[in-house]
Amino acid sequence: MFDRTDLQRLKINGVKINYLYVCERKLWLFDRGIQLEENSEKVLLGKLLSEYSYPSETRREVLIDDLIKIDVMGEEEIREIKYSNSLASANRIQILYYLYYLKMLGIERKGIINYPKMRRMEEVSLTPEAEREVEQAIKRVEEVLSSPRPPEVKRKSYCPKCAYYEFCFG
Ligand code: SF4
Repeated sequence: MFDRTDLQRLKINGVKINYLYVCERKLWLFDRGIQLEENSEKVLLGKLLSEYSYPSETRREVLIDDLIKIDVMGEEEIREIKYSNSLASANRIQILYYLYYLKMLGIERKGIINYPKMRRMEEVSLTPEAEREVEQAIKRVEEVLSSPRPPEVKRKSYCPKCAYYEFCFG
């Protein structure tokens, strides 16, 4: 089990955990400050969806320890609002990481991923198995980021939509 000090030292935020499941090279590039993703149309659309999809929620975005940015923090659940479920496993590990971090702080919640554009939602719980998966992911992020060089380019179906596409294949 990791503690708060470990995770603050490692500076592992939700985006890094998410990128681990998208592409290890993307994770490495993002960590080294090559943050092209911020300008991508997809991220902007995601932010707009998050802003306007749930205007009635009373408790909105919450930032914890400068690492965990939860879209909506409710009494019983946390919600993440995502543009698309094409990388559902990355969205899932991200919210599991948030649940893990909250548990470390003594806060128990369930997780909900909303896909407003598709009118879908997925419920996520931090089971003991999911906790182990989060811990494996944290260890793997640490390994990838400790390398002085980025992981090799491995072409994936979604590479053309990635903000680093020109960087990797240009
Ligand atoms: S273009 Fe492909 S290989 Fe390069 S960072 Fe993006 S997802 Fe990874």
